[in-house]
Amino acid sequence: MKKIHRLLVANRGEIALRIMRTAKEIGIETIAVYSEADRNSPHVRFAHESYCLGAAASSQSYLRGDKIIALCLEKKIDAIHPGYGFLSENAAFRREVEKAGIIFIGPSAEAMDAMGDKISAKQAVKKFHVPLVPGLDEAITDIAEAKKIAVEIGFPVLIKASAGGGGKGMRIVENEAEFESQMERAASEAINAFGNGAVFVEKYVTSPRHIEIQVLADQHGNAAYLFERECSIQRRHQKVVEEAPSAILTPEIRQKMGEAAVNVCKACNYSNAGTVEFIFDANMNFYFLEMNTRLQVEHPVTELITGIDIVKEQIRIAEGYPLSFKQEDLTINGHAIEVRVCAEDPANNFLPDIGKLLMYRIPKGAGVRVDDGFEEDMEIPIHYDPMIAKLIVHAPTRQEAIAKMLRAIDEYDIVGIQTTLSFCKFVLKHEAFVSGNFDTGFVANHFSPELLTETLTEAEEKVAALIARNLLLGEPQSQNSNAKVHISNWKRNRVL
Ligand code: ADP
Ligand code: ADP
Ligand code: MG
Repeated sequence: MKKIHRLLVANRGEIALRIMRTAKEIGIETIAVYSEADRNSPHVRFAHESYCLGAAASSQSYLRGDKIIALCLEKKIDAIHPGYGFLSENAAFRREVEKAGIIFIGPSAEAMDAMGDKISAKQAVKKFHVPLVPGLDEAITDIAEAKKIAVEIGFPVLIKASAGGGGKGMRIVENEAEFESQMERAASEAINAFGNGAVFVEKYVTSPRHIEIQVLADQHGNAAYLFERECSIQRRHQKVVEEAPSAILTPEIRQKMGEAAVNVCKACNYSNAGTVEFIFDANMNFYFLEMNTRLQVEHPVTELITGIDIVKEQIRIAEGYPLSFKQEDLTINGHAIEVRVCAEDPANNFLPDIGKLLMYRIPKGAGVRVDDGFEEDMEIPIHYDPMIAKLIVHAPTRQEAIAKMLRAIDEYDIVGIQTTLSFCKFVLKHEAFVSGNFDTGFVANHFSPELLTETLTEAEEKVAALIARNLLLGEPQSQNSNAKVHISNWKRNRVL
């Protein structure tokens, strides 16, 4: 065991705060790093100490692994938690951290290498009897050969970049005629976006659900699964609403998927927290998609239903302790839902929106958790991921969780930027979501921007007018047209 005394969180926003909160609770000193754009961010003030890494661009700040390691050595910092995104899945950084004698809170570089690349991941887990999406488990460059395989698999197929991530690097091919051109595009995109042109072909599962399993594994060979998260509500292949448990899994399938996920851990000697993603077809078959070798954005829903603090387990595992529980100790308690509050305009194709949080009031009350990284009057910087908060609720049943989430969304007041909250409200009220009968095509099948714009009630008109007046009084230089924009922001978030 090597006790961690001082922990640097190599991240920003909500996840930096979330990690530091647990660290403080277990008596660990917290060190924040920040870019010049984040100088006034809550995570900087929350930490015991904080240090500026450089200019706003990630490449000059949060991705500067060299500076972060040097800082740890200079300030006698024992450990680094990378959060998600940025350096979290960077095996080269992970190696450097270890070389410097610093504890990295996450899996080994070897496990990251094996799982970071979708092709090597498929090859590793195949030997452990984990079901794979029908298709190739190796890179292919010969277009004629690839086409032959696509015909065998049957259209539609998906051409995927082996190094892809964040919903990028995928092309659906509907028929043979468009295969060649799509293949060429996919390969050149993969080189441009990921610096690695390797692509493979797999069956495009129609109407699938995305269901993933949270795992925790220690350094002594013990691994356990913390049940599933349903993440099928996505836009651009990225999640917006997540819940645990899934509305459709039976205890038998849950156990099978859990055991498959534990096998994935064995396949790569995994330790620490990870997520095994599966795609789930209409016949209740599940197939391995990939493993994310880090703490996941949506981990709070799992924490709420299991009562396990995943960050605390991560720290203990990194210190060398065995898992604090056994598989059979775990049970599912109630139902949890998370919505991602992103600075995006759902009425305009979810394009990122920037601006100032003129009003920012979070919902409260029993069973409501808000993990956020911003405060009223702050600007949302354009340099990073547009997620500003996660709103999470926990209730005894799914139906009650939905009702609680709708209440909490109504209580959330955000003025000044467009957010995904109005879209999330649309989802939670939709019959398909309520009944549990939905898949990753939810947005394509059920959503259109007109559904977000309804008229204001009389009372809401009054509040909007007040907001407009305050804005005009508070900001003498602001234009009338500006105030209109703010009202419509307010309206979108409040009314549906
Ligand atoms: P999750 O399953 O946790 O939602 P995402 O794929 O949405 O995972 O990624 C979480 C975070 O990591 C996001 O901030 C996303 O922008 C970032 N991310 C994921 N993969 C990559 C990648 N290959 N390159 C850059 N950023 C990535
Ligand atoms: P990323 O690294 O970008 O997260 P994933 O392989 O996890 O890539 O895929 C992201 C999303 O794309 C999945 O959640 C799912 O919605 C969709 N997807 C991926 N593979 C398939 C497939 N074979 N068939 C249908 N949809 C898929
Ligand atoms: Mg994924």
